[in-house]
Amino acid sequence: MRIVDLRSDTITRPTPAMRRAMAEAEVGDDVFGEDPTVRQLEEMAAEQLGKEAALFVASGTMGNLVSLLVHCGRGDEFILGDQSHTFFYEQGGSAGLGGIHPRTVPNQPDGTMALHHIETAIRPDDIHFPRSRLIAVENTHTRCYGSPLDVDYMQVVGQIARRYEMKVHVDGARIFNAASALGVEARDLVAEADSVTFCLSKGLGAPVGSVVCGTRDFIGEARRVRKMLGGGMRQVGVLAAGGIVALTQMLDRLADDHANAQKLAEGLADIDGLSIDPERVKTNIVYLEVTPCGTTWQLLPEQLSSEGVRLLAAGPNRLRAVTHYHITSDDIEYALGVFREVLG
Ligand SMILES: *Cc1c(COP(=O)(O)O)cnc(C)c1O
Repeated sequence: MRIVDLRSDTITRPTPAMRRAMAEAEVGDDVFGEDPTVRQLEEMAAEQLGKEAALFVASGTMGNLVSLLVHCGRGDEFILGDQSHTFFYEQGGSAGLGGIHPRTVPNQPDGTMALHHIETAIRPDDIHFPRSRLIAVENTHTRCYGSPLDVDYMQVVGQIARRYEMKVHVDGARIFNAASALGVEARDLVAEADSVTFCLSKGLGAPVGSVVCGTRDFIGEARRVRKMLGGGMRQVGVLAAGGIVALTQMLDRLADDHANAQKLAEGLADIDGLSIDPERVKTNIVYLEVTPCGTTWQLLPEQLSSEGVRLLAAGPNRLRAVTHYHITSDDIEYALGVFREVLG
């Protein structure tokens, strides 16, 4: 059976070029700082994001946690969106492992936090209050339709942070999707950020890993924290090699994923039983609502799956589809056909 797997861009398998690079990678003990392939990846990532230094970590979750642990101490507070990945999907690690207090403000439909909400959440110096240390921004914003947050917004958040002597962390798991969609460089989106994490293992297709970027001092501390979390890995150049191929070969093609997501959204908009606004789809993430019809949002994924089209239920009435490297324009047509058949 033909399979069109739209559950997530994390399902991407390494490209042939990645597998070759991984097999042939020059390696050393990275805890001793002796893995040349890891060092090369870290230099490339720092350069791409316009930061002094970078650190290869096991996952986006680890990258965010390491960053939070460096920026904030126990009892400190950080401000983040109530729909953010860090708040929703990272097991409350900031509190569980760092004693760091999350202060959520609403994410707007476009993934931003209203500036006045951020400012009113910042605590004055008062013995009753935790200290506000950090503002965390997600770009693209996964739960908000994969919205890219633009350069102006990112700059203003940075200005607010500096006014209150706070730091900015960007959860840029899909920052290159944002850059592609907005037609800017990723480094311009994070110019005001003290730290940024991005994932190699999503749309960029590498099998494992994320990178944290920041100042040399910040990365020095992040390296210590990564070791404390058990994330000091040895001949990890075999993984970093896939990341190097991701950064050299996989950035330009993200626009194809966005075009396929747009095509999917436009096709779905014409199908009875579904509600979707294609204009909200700006990157590779598509959300659709199931309206009252012969099926439900709980049943539909299974019905589609029995015809080879896979996507995820994402909460009341909502399904999620994500385009990626293995999805072609032809696959989108096939998926639309299956939707029509199941809902027809
Ligand atoms: C996937 C994702 C993460 C976490 O990455 P993992 O590698 O799955 O731990 C963090 N933030 C966002 C926005 C993500 O999409």
